[in-house]
Amino acid sequence: MNMERKRMAFCPSICPGIECEASNQVLEFASNKGVNTFVQRVEGRGLDRCQFGAGGTCCRNCSMGPCMMIEGVPESIGICGATPATAAARNFCRMIAAGAAAHIDHARETVMGFLAAAKGEAPYEIKDERKLLSTAQLFEIKTEGRNIKDIAIELGEKAMAEFGRQDGGLHFIKRAPAKRQEVWKKMGVLPRGIDREVVEIMHRTHMGTDQDYANLILQGTRCALADGWGASMISTELQDIMFGTPVPIRATVNLGVLKTDEVNVVVHGHEPLLSEALAMVADDPEIVAAAQAVGAKGVNLAGVCCTGNEVLMRHGIPIAGSFIQQEIVLATGAVEAMVVDIQCIMQSLPTVAKCYHTEIITTSPRAKITGASHIEFDHHNALQVAKDIIKRAISRYPQRGPVHIPQHKTEVVAGFSHETINQMLGGAFRASYRPLNDNIINGRIKGVGAIVGCDSARVRSGYVHTTVARELIANDVLVITTGCAATACGREGLLTPEAASMCGPGLREVCEAVGIPPVLHMGSCVDNSRILIAATEIVREGGLGDDISQIPAVGCAPEWMSEKAIAIGQYFVASGASVIFGHTFPTTKSQVMTDYLFKDLFDLYGGCWGMENDPNDIARWMIEAIDKRREALGIHKKKERVLFDMAMRREL
Ligand code: SF4
Ligand code: SF4
Repeated sequence: MNMERKRMAFCPSICPGIECEASNQVLEFASNKGVNTFVQRVEGRGLDRCQFGAGGTCCRNCSMGPCMMIEGVPESIGICGATPATAAARNFCRMIAAGAAAHIDHARETVMGFLAAAKGEAPYEIKDERKLLSTAQLFEIKTEGRNIKDIAIELGEKAMAEFGRQDGGLHFIKRAPAKRQEVWKKMGVLPRGIDREVVEIMHRTHMGTDQDYANLILQGTRCALADGWGASMISTELQDIMFGTPVPIRATVNLGVLKTDEVNVVVHGHEPLLSEALAMVADDPEIVAAAQAVGAKGVNLAGVCCTGNEVLMRHGIPIAGSFIQQEIVLATGAVEAMVVDIQCIMQSLPTVAKCYHTEIITTSPRAKITGASHIEFDHHNALQVAKDIIKRAISRYPQRGPVHIPQHKTEVVAGFSHETINQMLGGAFRASYRPLNDNIINGRIKGVGAIVGCDSARVRSGYVHTTVARELIANDVLVITTGCAATACGREGLLTPEAASMCGPGLREVCEAVGIPPVLHMGSCVDNSRILIAATEIVREGGLGDDISQIPAVGCAPEWMSEKAIAIGQYFVASGASVIFGHTFPTTKSQVMTDYLFKDLFDLYGGCWGMENDPNDIARWMIEAIDKRREALGIHKKKERVLFDMAMRREL
């Protein structure tokens, strides 16, 4: 498809910009006012990325370097003799370690909040008792005859012990298909604990330690698995137990969710402990009265990034923007406070906020920003902190100047946890993945494609995600999505049942019969663990092989930006699902290392990495990968087209 398809009025020459009319209106408004955002910074740098850095062959792990290496030029190897493949593998593993560490620290905080809630020391409750009991079983906790509080405390303590475990393995690993566990055992990559795997990467990548790229990637894999089947899964499950397992909910996304006559408080970051507390108090009579006292009608809570996805899925709180829109949200001039916790928060926010009346409030001791205010969040005192924060926002409302809130907001249906998919497809009384498996086997659904991850200033943001999604659904591939990719799909109307009109005939029939969108919003970045569970359930249901590496499913992160994306990609690949990234890949300057990740891993794990620039090529790569799996399963033959009557539709 032509990249110029829908170029908007605000179109800088170097920065690819964003495929969103509302965002471009605000960017133009901001630019005229002299406000600098990512657009000006990309333009201002003028230079392309350093190819050594981008391609993974710059090593700066000791002070004899940095050593920039060119594969095939022996004179350019590191002063210590390190090869480009070793440098690329070390850098790749450090990205996994950093990404996993982000998810791990998030999970640790979740467990601390969970334990406080279980002990009655935090304002959260145990909302999903069913999930508490099933999770407790996985942790070998006796549930019979015990009260919920005791079970929850023991689960919290056992979950906390996973981080510091030195050996013996993680409880959630046992959820994976037996065949997959065998692969991990044979490869020697079963995580021993969670924190240990990050530490070992940092040790092994220290100067003069592990200097065999394949051996380095073994540890990278073990660390990534400790993230996906450990930390991220702990976050998802304990958050569900505390805040409720998401069910489909209607909401809206994009800048138009901000309100002219209310105090706009935007939550940005990742941990739902804070955003849940803000959601609990936003309608409190004391808060509403305070807002009315300054002339506002109330408090409008909206989200950005993955925190936005968390509160969207559980409360229908609207999303104002994705990662790339965070400055644009401020540039509307309508935000009284942006409350941030951890990860994906641009350091530029206080600078942009200074052009308006907005206060940037950091809340985590692990993530302060020069120029922002700091109100420390404490889950023991969560509601009071949340009220203090909102009152600070209210006090800014009288200082609000001219605003530019575009009208654009799009309806979405979010909240497709794997439990929901189970029930929607199988029905409340016979919840099962059977109908999904059958529809994959009979070819109405070709397969499942996951579109996950960030958006980026290096691509035409939003265009890439939505082009891949459109192409996949047109080819009968059911799409599941998380993170900022989900927000981009939401902006373009792909998260509604009406989007079934863009599907191929088979997927359209299924979506219309069940009433689901063809692109299912499964949550935030830690919720990629939901995809692991869904894939496992598909295997368990039967008929599509006995391992994740056999099911017609594939993933992509076409606009990826964060190191977390590398950790996520590696845990999917090691779980048997191939993954393709867009626009850049951090090992491309070492062909040896890239071949290892793009080809050799497939023989070892049944899944591998790929990279393509053009979104249509990304979609084609995914469809081909799905077709190959269908062929291996013997379900690739085209079926005769059948016209469906009502009875047949009910059977879908
Ligand atoms: S570890 Fe080796 S390759 Fe890396 S900076 Fe030091 S000398 Fe150079
Ligand atoms: S999807 Fe990426 S950019 Fe968006 S919040 Fe998650 S990690 Fe950050």
